[in-house]
Amino acid sequence: MYAKLTLSAAFVALAFSHNALAADHNLSADILVVGAGSAGLTAAVQAAEKGKKVILLEKNLGVGGSSQFAEGLFAVGSEWNRLRSDPLTKEEAFKTLMEKHGYVIDAAKTKDYVEGSAENISWLAGHGIKFEVVRMTPWEAATWHVISDYKGTNHGAGLIKGLKDAADKAGVETKLGTPATELILNKEGAVVGAKAADKKGNTYTISAKAVILATGGFGDDPQKVKNWAHRDPEGWKSSVPIGKTGDGIVMATKAGAAMGNVSFVQHLGTEGKGIKFLGNLYATSWQPSALWVNCDGNRFSNEDVAFSFAQAANAIYAQPHHYGWSIFDDSQVQYMMKKGVDSGIGVLVPVGQKLPNLQKEIDDAVTVKSDGFKTADSVAQLAKELGVPEANLQKAVEQYNKACEVGHDGEYYKEKTYLRPLNTKKLYAIKLKAYFFSSYGGLNTNRKHQVLDKNNKPIKGLYATGLEVSDMVGPTYSTWSSGHAFGFASYSGRHAALNAIDEMK
Ligand SMILES: Cc1cc2nc3c(=O)[nH]c(=O)nc-3n(C[C@H](O)[C@H](O)[C@H](O)COP(=O)(O)OP(=O)(O)OC[C@H]3O[C@@H](n4cnc5c(N)ncnc54)[C@H](O)[C@@H]3O)c2cc1C
Repeated sequence: MYAKLTLSAAFVALAFSHNALAADHNLSADILVVGAGSAGLTAAVQAAEKGKKVILLEKNLGVGGSSQFAEGLFAVGSEWNRLRSDPLTKEEAFKTLMEKHGYVIDAAKTKDYVEGSAENISWLAGHGIKFEVVRMTPWEAATWHVISDYKGTNHGAGLIKGLKDAADKAGVETKLGTPATELILNKEGAVVGAKAADKKGNTYTISAKAVILATGGFGDDPQKVKNWAHRDPEGWKSSVPIGKTGDGIVMATKAGAAMGNVSFVQHLGTEGKGIKFLGNLYATSWQPSALWVNCDGNRFSNEDVAFSFAQAANAIYAQPHHYGWSIFDDSQVQYMMKKGVDSGIGVLVPVGQKLPNLQKEIDDAVTVKSDGFKTADSVAQLAKELGVPEANLQKAVEQYNKACEVGHDGEYYKEKTYLRPLNTKKLYAIKLKAYFFSSYGGLNTNRKHQVLDKNNKPIKGLYATGLEVSDMVGPTYSTWSSGHAFGFASYSGRHAALNAIDEMK
């Protein structure tokens, strides 16, 4: 009892001293950047290298946002493209992008982005970040500039490390664990700074000539996913949740910004007991040679849509209860173990990579009675395991095996190469679900990346970049131009900073 009291007293003392240490701070900067993913870091570095005083606020305890998990950036006509003699021109890239996104994206900003994409990669390379151009499939453009190295780290984490080093070198004052909470407006309605607070109770009032928002969307807030994107939160999940709750969009709309269109950068995937993210068993959910059925046991798509991870996610989400099952057999397990995967998961699991641990991961998932993975030695048993009507599943398997036998998928026209019959004596099924890398959009911006109000007029002093910018991605992300979202984040961050500096003159 005594010990308990002493402990409580210590906590009170600690709480008291914690509050006593907290304070209200008044700071000032030329440019205040909110969010330290790739958009925010490029904005901060670009502005600081131009001699501006920059404060960078980050909500989490480390920089990087979802950018640290991405792999590569879109660019056309770069030095790396030229080295490979990639034939795609900027003109073709612009036109194809507009078509792929159904002409619902902003033509002017898309053109600027395509035109500036190669210079953007050169600028990043000038900060010691190395690239290689990778194509996930032969029918994709050679636009994906994957980060091959920055001081021993590759992919998004390498880019972030390089940008953080550059920010430190250029004198950016970075405040971690310090989310911006609201924008400060002057009498004319111009943005002149922002307020922020940290967990220790410190509050900050930061005045700035320009505020650049780079908070990376709202994909981790199920209520906003429902209200803004009209998606059933039960049917979608964030692939890497990092607490992105649309803060920039909320702050800007409170300051008079119009709410713009939203969409998603999404992918297919799986989860469940005993299934390791990006492990060998996980990789089976991205394969085109399986049979996909929904919760009614009906086949629902040509499975080679798996090559387009975003479209595949749409097909899965469109099913009742937003999920499906991918059914394969023992010969396909052997194929993936010995010959490798037909469809890669970006550069994380490249095309052709063998899955040597697949059998072990299957056994482990069976041992823990995985809810996301099932096995059976007959179609009837599989129907029971999956909880789908047996008659429907029998019909789906029979029709599918017939299509494999004749080499023609009369139902959904899957490529002949991926028509592999199922041995019904040893069946496996992995659950298919839709996930989002990130939400896209929320704020309308002009070509200078200024945030627009409800009358389509720029709000003075306010810029938005990266994932919270509307109309850069159509209703579905196009896998033709890999790295489109990541490339735009760093491109728009830099150019928002350059335009903000211009406006200050
Ligand atoms: C696993 C994965 C792989 C991906 N791969 C690719 C790819 O290869 N190609 C591609 O184009 N896209 C990819 N994406 C999408 C990619 O992450 C985005 O395209 C891009 O990185 C977004 O950059 P951003 O700076 O806008 O957002 P983020 O990198 O998410 O940064 C936003 C930052 O703002 C911070 N923040 C939020 N609220 C506040 C606040 N109130 N105050 C201060 N800070 C705040 C967040 O904590 C975060 O650090 C991938 C995403 C994931 C999750």
